[in-house]
Amino acid sequence: MQITGEMLIGASAVRGTKGTLRAFDPARNAEIEPTFGAGSVTEVERACELAAQAFDAYRSAPLETRARFLEAIAENILALGDTLIERAQAESALPRARLEGERGRTVGQLKLFASLVREGRWLTATLDSAMPDRKPLPRSDLRMQKIPVGPVAVFGASNFPLAFSVAGGDTASAFAAGCPVVVKAHPAHLGTSELVGRAIQKAVADCGLHEGTFSLVIGAGNEIGEALVAHPAIKSVGFTGSRRGGLALADIASKRREPIPVFAEMSSINPVFVMPGALAARADSIANGFVESVTLGVGQFCTNPGLVIVLNGPHTQGFIDAAAQALAKKGAQTMLTAGIAAAYREGVAQRAETSGVKSVAQGTPSDASCSALPALFTTTAAQFLATHALEDEIFGPTSLIVTCADVGEMMKVAEQIEGQLTATLQIEPDDYELVRGLLPTLERKVGRILANGYPTGVEVCYAMVHGGPFPATSDPRATSVGATAIDRFLRPVCYQDLPAELLPEAVQDGNPLKLWRLRDGQLGRD
Ligand code: NAP
Repeated sequence: MQITGEMLIGASAVRGTKGTLRAFDPARNAEIEPTFGAGSVTEVERACELAAQAFDAYRSAPLETRARFLEAIAENILALGDTLIERAQAESALPRARLEGERGRTVGQLKLFASLVREGRWLTATLDSAMPDRKPLPRSDLRMQKIPVGPVAVFGASNFPLAFSVAGGDTASAFAAGCPVVVKAHPAHLGTSELVGRAIQKAVADCGLHEGTFSLVIGAGNEIGEALVAHPAIKSVGFTGSRRGGLALADIASKRREPIPVFAEMSSINPVFVMPGALAARADSIANGFVESVTLGVGQFCTNPGLVIVLNGPHTQGFIDAAAQALAKKGAQTMLTAGIAAAYREGVAQRAETSGVKSVAQGTPSDASCSALPALFTTTAAQFLATHALEDEIFGPTSLIVTCADVGEMMKVAEQIEGQLTATLQIEPDDYELVRGLLPTLERKVGRILANGYPTGVEVCYAMVHGGPFPATSDPRATSVGATAIDRFLRPVCYQDLPAELLPEAVQDGNPLKLWRLRDGQLGRD
């Protein structure tokens, strides 16, 4: 499939006329063909109007059609073959194996949501029978189901050109909920976005859906994204990126005539608590595993472990030395964009100059362009508690080890840290009592607590939570990965005393969709 540099507005391919954009190969330090026409507010408006027109048709299509649509997108992405992988590699400098894995995850997510759509529990069909003889007042017949909120704006993430971009988790969950989607392509992977966008556009046509079910817009600067979030047809937003970007979009959304939710996944430093028993049992292996996790994918994961908390003790220095040695062997590698690489270098330089922070290791320099040199720092808990800037995410292969004089200091550090996607516990049975004291704090702070592993690597399944209190996300009640991501784009509607002929299928007598439903407080399929 040819990349043309056009936007996809409904069924049309439209060349933007507001200047030009070029994709960039950070590994070769060179622009990539072709030239893209940058879109304007006009195309955003057209895409949003089409999405509004498509909404009722799309949401009322049979669930089987919606599931087939998700599967058709997956099939069309696979049919792009090497063209997609090679383009994504050129635009991101991510290795082929990683991108092939990411494509597998993208396809897997779409299929997971297809099976979820068919199963239908997310409709939360609930029936409360009328009680005409109830005294002193009769009760009406009440039935509830969840419906989609309306068209959703999705911002593709720079660090997942496939799994969190045009057909990524936000898009898949919004489509599954019954929402048309308008995607704002990330400027770092314009060609990848167009290829995947065309795969979705084809699936829309093949499944006989309204053309406005999907559009893809591109543009230079913030104007396009701002216009998208401000458009009255858009009813919710999915975003992964910087704290500044997420907050700017949330601000626009909250100031609209009709404010709308923004599900922004922004910044997280994913603390790892290494407990004394674990340190005594396996300091070297924890140090090595931690360094692998910090440097994986050039540290460009939202779950990168940017903070390690240890108690001072006989094995602490050995742990720091082992981590420093392992990190020193890691080479500098190309980051996703020149801007991300520059932000990383600036963040690391600032950290190195922060009072009370010691630089204990640097990776091996290389002459790779747009590269990041891994860096490891240590500080004391007292310094950490006094310096809020040490909690800032530095997106890339770096981490800070915080040494605590005693358990009280460790608890204070846990209490101070901002909201996080994850917290990791390295523990042995003799640490359990200490951990019991820590867990209530961690539950308040994070979306996922894991033991004896590393936070990078997020399973896409039913129980996954990829969310957490601010600034990890803008709404801690939701996850952006896993089956329950669909809940972000649904809202409940109750039908009181509606004639049987007018009730939606999900709550009709006889249960024509064969759903699991709550009827008078009892779960069943009757
Ligand atoms: P970003 O700058 O927040 O951009 C993400 C998307 O949002 C882009 O499409 C961008 O498009 C748009 N955008 C940003 N600010 C906007 C605004 N004020 N108004 C309208 N649209 C806006 O994120 P990024 O480019 O992916 O990376 C920059 C930094 O974000 C990284 O260095 C890292 O610190 C952080 N980041 C964090 C994570 C994480 O998961 N924690 C992931 C990725 C990045 P335009 O620029 O075209 O407007």
